[in-house]
Amino acid sequence: MRILLVEDEAALAQRLREALVDAGFVVEPVADGEEALHLGKIEPYDAVVLDLGLPRMDGVSVLQRWRSAGIETPVLVLTARGRWPEKLAAFSAGADDYVTKPFEVQEVIVRLRALMRRAAGAPSAAIECGPLRLDTTSGSVTVDGAPVRLTTHELRILEYLLHRRDRIVSRLDIIDHVYDRDFDRDSNVIDVLIGRIRRKITVDVIETIRGQGYRMSSKSR
Ligand code: CA
Repeated sequence: MRILLVEDEAALAQRLREALVDAGFVVEPVADGEEALHLGKIEPYDAVVLDLGLPRMDGVSVLQRWRSAGIETPVLVLTARGRWPEKLAAFSAGADDYVTKPFEVQEVIVRLRALMRRAAGAPSAAIECGPLRLDTTSGSVTVDGAPVRLTTHELRILEYLLHRRDRIVSRLDIIDHVYDRDFDRDSNVIDVLIGRIRRKITVDVIETIRGQGYRMSSKSR
């Protein structure tokens, strides 16, 4: 899952970035409001971490412009302690959740995962598709209760397909959401990874849609 991280304090941005990458996210860091506004409009992120006090354009204005442009990506706002009017402004601009500085980075991760699950229509920590189950908190995958071991990239792809289940996702969609922007987009590595995931999970829940991509569904065929 791909995250836009908007934070201008370099040390905090670095700490958040490392923790998010460790948690398996693809992270794109930016340090000013105008660039955040631009990237949020053109790039398909799964969630945004948005500081409110930013150079060039404040976070509330960025959020207002995304929402009025129809961008519905879940947004977690970072606010300073005691700034209640700022929090209210962020919520009325369309924020989905907030954490108050100083915070534990793990709290940011837990809240982001909850936002993305809600956006995918799955309120609990687990996402299921037939006998396949992913615990999004621990990153553990089971089939009929038996654990399946996946590599980081296999897990990212599986998680993305589960968040989009019953919908067709193209190879480019998958690349956009599970790899950094400099990834070679002509690569057929996605097909290779999907093949490996299928062999590991053994259940037939990932359908190939010819000429379009893949669809995860418990009722394929
Ligand atoms: Ca700031």
